[in-house]
Amino acid sequence: QDNKFQAIISHAKEYGFVFPSSEIYDGLSAVYDYGPYGSELKKNIRDYWWKSMTQLHDNIVGIDAAIFMHPTTWKASGHVDNFSDPMIDNKDSKKRYRVDHLIEAYADKLTEEGKGQEAQALIAEMERLLSTDDFTGLKQLLIDNKIACGVSGTTNWTDIRQFNLMFDTKVGSVAEDADTIYLRPETAQGIFVNFLNVQKTARMKVPFGIAQTGKAFRNEIVARQFIFRMREFEQMEMQFFVRPGTEGEWYKYWKEARLQWHLSLGIDQAKYRYHDHAKLAFYAKEACDIEFEFPIGFKEVEGIHSRTDYDLTQHEKFSRKKQQYFDNDLDENGKAYGNYVPYVIETSIGLDRMFLLILSNAYEEETLTKEDGSTDSRTVLHIPAKLAPVKLAILPLTKKDGLPEIARELMDECKQHFRCFYEEKDAIGKRYRRQDAIGTPFCITIDHQTKEDQTVTIRHRDSMLQERVPLSKVREIVTQAIEK
Ligand code: ATP
Repeated sequence: QDNKFQAIISHAKEYGFVFPSSEIYDGLSAVYDYGPYGSELKKNIRDYWWKSMTQLHDNIVGIDAAIFMHPTTWKASGHVDNFSDPMIDNKDSKKRYRVDHLIEAYADKLTEEGKGQEAQALIAEMERLLSTDDFTGLKQLLIDNKIACGVSGTTNWTDIRQFNLMFDTKVGSVAEDADTIYLRPETAQGIFVNFLNVQKTARMKVPFGIAQTGKAFRNEIVARQFIFRMREFEQMEMQFFVRPGTEGEWYKYWKEARLQWHLSLGIDQAKYRYHDHAKLAFYAKEACDIEFEFPIGFKEVEGIHSRTDYDLTQHEKFSRKKQQYFDNDLDENGKAYGNYVPYVIETSIGLDRMFLLILSNAYEEETLTKEDGSTDSRTVLHIPAKLAPVKLAILPLTKKDGLPEIARELMDECKQHFRCFYEEKDAIGKRYRRQDAIGTPFCITIDHQTKEDQTVTIRHRDSMLQERVPLSKVREIVTQAIEK
C-alpha cells in the first residue's frame, strides 16, 4: 500500500497536480504547490463544498476573514495555552517527534504483526497518559516498549515537553515595539468573532450557519505524509449556530449530512467510517471524525464537533462585548426564548486532505487485454466528472483537411461552459492516455467522417467505450455528466 502512496505522489508531480514547494531549492518540508491540473481540481472541490453549504442551504452564508487576527483571539480560543502537542527529541539523531505519532506508528506495526490486542492496549494507555498530561509516564511507555525512531533506531530520548503549533510573527517594522501576532491555525475563529456582524447584516435567524474556506497554518512536526499533513493548508469550515438544547439533533443532522456529501461524489461507502471520540475537549459535548481509507490506512478527513457556547462565551469574556442573540420565537409556554449565546455545531474538513482522498480513490494502474490476447496498461484517474480538472479533450485526428477548424469551433463553443483541452499532436492513442492520466472524463475525436455527417467519436474515460454522436450534442452530453 505504501507503494501505491508513492505512485500517487509521483503521478501527482509528473502530471502537474502537486509539486514540492520551491523545489529548485530542494523543497520545503510539509509545504506543497498545486500545478495546472492540481489547482483546477482543488478549486472544483472547494466550489463543490461551497455550493453545497451556501447555495443549497438558504440558512448558511459565507465569509472571507483575514488570516491575521487580533492576538487576543487566540488567547480567548485557548490556542495560546493549549494548542500544543507533546514532543520528544532523540539525542542521537537530533530529530524531534510527536509522542503520540511515535506510539501510533508502533501500534500499527504491532497490528500488522497480528498483535492487535497489544496494540489496542498500548493506544488506550497512551490516551490515558495524554489526558492527564503524564509526560513521565509517556516517556516510560516509549522506553518499556523499546519504541525507537525510524532513522537511527536508538531510544536515547530527551524529556517530553509541550510544543505550540502556532506560527508567530511580528507586526510593525522594528522588533522593539512590535506585537506578536499569529498565522491562524484554523479558520473557525474568523467566523466566531464575526458572529454578530454576520447575523445582523445578513438578517439571519437561529439556526443558521457561517461557512468559510481559507488557509490555516500549523507547525506540524511530522512530515513525509505528502499533502495529508502540511504546515500551510486550506480548511473548509462551517459553524452552525443553534438554540441551546437543540444541539443534539443538529449534531446528528450534520454528522449524517456530511457523510452524504462525500457519498454524493460516488465514492464507495465501504471506504468511509465514523470515529466517535471517546476523549473530548472539556467544552465539547460530542465529536466525531469522518475517516477515509487512504493508501496509508483509515485516517481523518473531516471533523464534526458539538462545541457548546464555549467559543462565543470565551470571546464575550475577553472582548467584553456581548455575543448574544435575541430569539423571538415562542417556547411551549408561549414565551419568547429571548437572549442567549447560541450553541455551535462545527463541520471542518481539510481541502488538501479531500484532494488527497479524491486522488487516492481515483488512481488506478489498469491492465488491459487487447483483442489479440496481449496485454497493455494505462494509468487512469477516475475523478468524478464534476471535479475533473479538464472535462473535455478535443482532438482532431489530423492537422489538416479542415479538421482543426471544426475542432476549434467546438472548442470555442464549449470553453464558455466548462474547462476544455485542445490537442492535435501525436497518435490518438497516446493522446487518450495522457487525458486518462489527468482524469478527463470525455475525449472527442474529429475525423474525416465528421465533415460528411457532422458526427464525432466520443470516448468515455472509465469504460474506454467509443461511440458516434452528433457534433451538435457534445456540449449537452458533457454538461449533463458534470451536473449529475
Ligand atoms: P490531525 O489529528 O490529523 O492533526 P486535527 O484533529 O488536529 O487533525 P482539526 O483541527 O479538527 O484536525 O482540523 C480539521 C480538518 O483540517 C482535519 O480533519 C483535516 O482534514 C484538516 N487538517 C488539520 N491539520 C491539517 C494539516 N496539518 N494538513 C492538512 N490538513 C489538515
